[in-house]
Amino acid sequence: MSGHDYLVRAMLGDNQARVFALKTTHVAAEAQQVHGTAPVATAALGRTLTMGLVLGAMLKDEETITIQIKGDGPIGSIVVSADSHGNVKGYVGNPRIDLPLNSAGKLAVGEAVGRGHLHVIRDLGLKEPYHGTVPLQNGEIGEDFAYYFAASEQTPSAVLVGVLVGTDGVPLGSGGIVVQLLPDAVRDEAFISKLEERLKEVPPVSTLFSGDRTPEEIVSEVFSGLEVRFLDSQRVSFLCNCSWERFERALVTLGVEELEEMVDEGKAIETICHFCNKRYNFSVEDLNRLLQELGNTRA
Ligand SMILES: [Zn+2]
Repeated sequence: MSGHDYLVRAMLGDNQARVFALKTTHVAAEAQQVHGTAPVATAALGRTLTMGLVLGAMLKDEETITIQIKGDGPIGSIVVSADSHGNVKGYVGNPRIDLPLNSAGKLAVGEAVGRGHLHVIRDLGLKEPYHGTVPLQNGEIGEDFAYYFAASEQTPSAVLVGVLVGTDGVPLGSGGIVVQLLPDAVRDEAFISKLEERLKEVPPVSTLFSGDRTPEEIVSEVFSGLEVRFLDSQRVSFLCNCSWERFERALVTLGVEELEEMVDEGKAIETICHFCNKRYNFSVEDLNRLLQELGNTRA
């Protein structure tokens, strides 16, 4: 595993389509380590984290995005949250899930996820959050997001996303390519058929990103024959922004009665961050101090 993870943005042809391509091998490996995911969960979470970073790259400044994949399969829910600066975090309901390979000999991500819905919640800061929901297509993540872009954002898109998991359970390669037709190009049949031809030839995206090639090299290869213009790049990483203070605020929102009960029971409270499994302990003294602070603000 070499080279750091990053995302590149590019335009195709005469600005007929835009491309997001990103290597997320370290992101997937970090998530695997933090959550101890079994291979099929590593693939499902890695793919969703990759898509979270793509959606994050579409945001402005301080906006954030949360993806919830809620299927009826044995993996439970997949939750991923990303910002516009290349930071992503996420978890799955059942990280230890063990499923046999599917009929194609691949990790059975679709089976693990099952049927259900994909939710995208874009937090726009002061404005009302945007909430988009689409039914899952096959639970393999890539097609589900292609459908989301088409149905919810009216943007015809191709989504290729994959994680190659080694025999020791560690991701060897992870990444994604998202191509979106821009409004003017939707009727440009010559361009579209050229693009479709190129997309038919793409090898499995997980193997594309498992070697030493950079996202730029991969984009140039995948779209050879089409004009490619790179716009910019951004580092991406698995990063949780939780803190003791954040959990303290969450405890405060429980209210005086609940906190008093906890103090009366005389037990320390241990909270765990779902996204990174970090533990934060609150002693009875901590809880008492929070109660006092609450009392002071009330007085
Ligand atoms: Zn955390």
